[in-house]
Amino acid sequence: MTEAIRSVNCPRCRKPVRWGAESPFRPFCSERCKTIDLGAWAEEEYRVAVKESDQDPQGTDKGAA
Ligand SMILES: [Zn+2]
Repeated sequence: MTEAIRSVNCPRCRKPVRWGAESPFRPFCSERCKTIDLGAWAEEEYRVAVKESDQDPQGTDKGAA
């Protein structure tokens, strides 16, 4: 009578998520967490790119003898 309920932790908020049809956004607990996670990932890429291009090119002289 003990049902083995599989559950995972939401990668975003660490909230336990039941692994089943009732959790269509697994391993995320909700669509929001899924969207936030993907959005954060994209934003991070964007930030890195911006930060790199924002750096002062005259700060370091690579290849200067
Ligand atoms: Zn979550």
